[in-house]
Amino acid sequence: MLAGTFVSRPLLRAERLVKHFKAVRAVDDISFELYTGETLALVGESGCGKSTAGRLLLRLIEPTSGKVWFDGRDLFGLAEREVRSLRREMQIIFQDPYGSLNPRMTVRDMLAEPLALHGLAKGKQPERVAELLRLVGLGPEHAGRYPHEFSGGQRQRIGIARAVAVEPRLIVCDEPVSALDVSIRAQIINLLQDLQRRFGLAYLFIAHDLAVVKHIAARVAADKRALFAEPRHPYTHALLSAIPVPDLSLKRERLVLQGDVPSAHRPPQGCRFHTRCPHARERCREEEPPLAAADSHSVACHFWKEIEPFTSASRLTPVNERLTRLQAAFHTGGGSS
Ligand code: SF4
Repeated sequence: MLAGTFVSRPLLRAERLVKHFKAVRAVDDISFELYTGETLALVGESGCGKSTAGRLLLRLIEPTSGKVWFDGRDLFGLAEREVRSLRREMQIIFQDPYGSLNPRMTVRDMLAEPLALHGLAKGKQPERVAELLRLVGLGPEHAGRYPHEFSGGQRQRIGIARAVAVEPRLIVCDEPVSALDVSIRAQIINLLQDLQRRFGLAYLFIAHDLAVVKHIAARVAADKRALFAEPRHPYTHALLSAIPVPDLSLKRERLVLQGDVPSAHRPPQGCRFHTRCPHARERCREEEPPLAAADSHSVACHFWKEIEPFTSASRLTPVNERLTRLQAAFHTGGGSS
C-alpha cells in the first residue's frame, strides 16, 4: 500500500498513552493514528519523552495507562508469545547507529541474525543479505566488514537494512539522522522515503528538528501544512525559529526560550510551558490549557487567539522570511513529501 492510498483502519492507534517512571511523567497523554504507507512525526524537545513513546508503541516497555492498537489488535492485551510474532512487523531505527550495531559482528552476520530468528530466506541467506545491502545503497563487498569500518551514514544504512530485513509494516525512526552530518541527512531521508514507497512502510518519526520533519512527515500530530502555515502555539514558534538558515545574508534571529526545561518529576502547575513562555500570564500558572481546535489543527494554549500567528507579525524578521519560504514550498506542492 503506497502513501496516499490509505485503508480506513489505522495500522497503529494510540489513545491517551501515559508512561510515568516512578514520579517522572515521561509520556503524558499521547493520542494519534498512523496509517499504512504514512509518516507521522512526534516532535518535541530533547528529553521530553519522545523516545519513551516509541518504545511504548513497540511494547518494549509497558505503559502506566492508555491503549495502543496495532492493525486492530490491542497491543497491551497480547500474550508475550503473540508480541514476539508481532515484533517482526514493528521495527526500530536508532539515533546512534554505532551504538545499536554489535561491534564484533560482521554486517553479514548482523543481517542474517533477524532472518534466522524469524525463519526467513531459508537456504537463501547470502542472496538476501546481498539484496538488503543493495537496497540501502551498499554493496555485497561490504558484507564481511565490521561496523567500525564504516562512516556514520553507512552505519545508519546498515541499521536500516537490519530493520527492513524482516519485512516490517511499521518502523519507529528514533531521531535517525540527528547524529549525522547535515550533508548526509538528506541521503538517509531519501533512502527512507524510497523504502516507504517500495514497501508501503508506515513510519513513526521521532525528531526535534522541524526542518527534517518538513521533508519526511505527512502529519505532525496535527496536520503538517496547518502547523507550518499558521503556527499558533508559542512553543511551535520557537521550534520554527530554530530551523537553520541556508542564506547567510540573513541574520539568524532565533526565539531562544528563556528559563529551565521543567522537571519531569515535578511538572509545573497550569500550562507546562509557562515557565518559559513569553506570553505567560496568571491564568497560565494555575490552569492547564485544554487541547482546542485552532483553525485546521489543535493547540493547547489559553491565549492562542490573541497570540499573533508567527507569520503575520508586522516586522519582517529573518525568522519570518524562513517561514515564508517554507510556506511557499507547501503551496507549490513541497509539503506533500
Ligand atoms: Fe504560554 Fe499561557 Fe499559552 Fe501556555 S497557556 S503557551 S503559558 S500563553
